[in-house]
Amino acid sequence: MQYRSYNLNNFRKIPQLRRIKADLKFDIEVVGNILPFKVNNYVIEQMIDWDNPESDPIFRMTFPHREMLLPEHYEEMADLLRKKADPIQIKRKANKIRMKLNPHPAGQLELNVPTFEGKIMRGLQHKYNETVLFFPNRGQTCHAYCTFCFRWPQFVGMNKLKFAMRQTEMVVSYLKHHPEVTDLLITGGDPLTMKTKFLRYIIRSIIRAKLDNIINIRIGSKALSYWPYRFLSDDDAGELIRLFKRVNKRGKRIEFMAHFNHPRELESRPVHDAVKRIIDTGTIIRTQAPVLKNINDDSQVWEKMWKEQVRLGMIPYYMFIARNTGAQHYFAIPLVRALEIYNNAFRKVSGLSRTARGPVMSANPGKIQIVGVQEVKGEKVFVLKFIQARDPDWVGIPYFATFDENAIWRNDLKPAFGEACFFYEEEKKEL
Ligand SMILES: *Cc1c(COP(=O)(O)O)cnc(C)c1O
Ligand code: SF4
Repeated sequence: MQYRSYNLNNFRKIPQLRRIKADLKFDIEVVGNILPFKVNNYVIEQMIDWDNPESDPIFRMTFPHREMLLPEHYEEMADLLRKKADPIQIKRKANKIRMKLNPHPAGQLELNVPTFEGKIMRGLQHKYNETVLFFPNRGQTCHAYCTFCFRWPQFVGMNKLKFAMRQTEMVVSYLKHHPEVTDLLITGGDPLTMKTKFLRYIIRSIIRAKLDNIINIRIGSKALSYWPYRFLSDDDAGELIRLFKRVNKRGKRIEFMAHFNHPRELESRPVHDAVKRIIDTGTIIRTQAPVLKNINDDSQVWEKMWKEQVRLGMIPYYMFIARNTGAQHYFAIPLVRALEIYNNAFRKVSGLSRTARGPVMSANPGKIQIVGVQEVKGEKVFVLKFIQARDPDWVGIPYFATFDENAIWRNDLKPAFGEACFFYEEEKKEL
């Protein structure tokens, strides 16, 4: 299949959209002027149920919806478009609204960028000891954009990632001087939007540098879901598969971190074929996704998704909580609801699916798991713990927050039992 992509400029040419109402198309335009929008012919032709697009999870995952904006923001933008305002005015308004959508959650881009020999390592993040994230400059787009993506500001050209020159050499020398690092996670955007030759250059450089500490080269990608032909029929698909095979033979591991949000994404034949082709190289595919209102806030959806992933040979890995950015009001569910969904799905699957950790908030101090709700001496509390933390000593220590049925993110939580702060905040003060 030939890749064809659609965005705000050409989406009206999507043949299937002829079947949806004009006001829905206008909504796409209003929201798409503020949040990123990109979709492709595979998603359109093979994933969306066009008999019922408005309630279709894949349609909601990729097409902007009116409710993704707060009513006042929607009206402000709709008004400009109805008046056919000039593009500069529209852009200015868009940026103003974007600034109100918390475009910099958890200091994503600024806080974790390491320095080395006095230089800022742009395009790297090193937050947890064992794992370095690498954002190659050519992999900072995706085969389609998810409407809930927390990296949305990057895609609309707000906090554009800055990249170092000679990125690969920089990664190699950084890893050489950080023997505690075992994993390099190549991420984006979607690094598999890069041509294989660029990915091969990165991976080859790492192997040739003989970095004994690096065991796992992880690739975070949604290509299995949004463009499985990346592994099947793209002109460099075979090269990519051979690259995986060779690395796995060389004693390093390619680890594939796949992103699936709904069991529907696992139904298509090309996805099955692509999964098989990747697994046949000796690569393990682990899966992760946030739990999202209007898309997958249903334990049966997760149960089905995990079972199906295991059937296809993948390992469920993370269930995340929607971050506090962008269209959070459209996608967020209360923490207690996320826990219910996780537990109800977890209880229905065999141990092979119980590898999924969650629900987890990936936040500034670390990855916080909601372990459960309990009553301790008359006070109802959330039991929480870090499964990753800035300070590894924090990992695994249970701690408690006052139960709040409406809390949707960690900043809604207060320490339980009348404490002034959480244990890790105390430690921060001492530092
Ligand atoms: C999630 C994450 C990792 C990887 O954590 P694992 O639990 O090893 O998968 C690494 N760095 C950052 C910044 C992360 O958010
Ligand atoms: S594929 Fe990943 S990075 Fe790209 S838009 Fe979706 S969630 Fe964001």
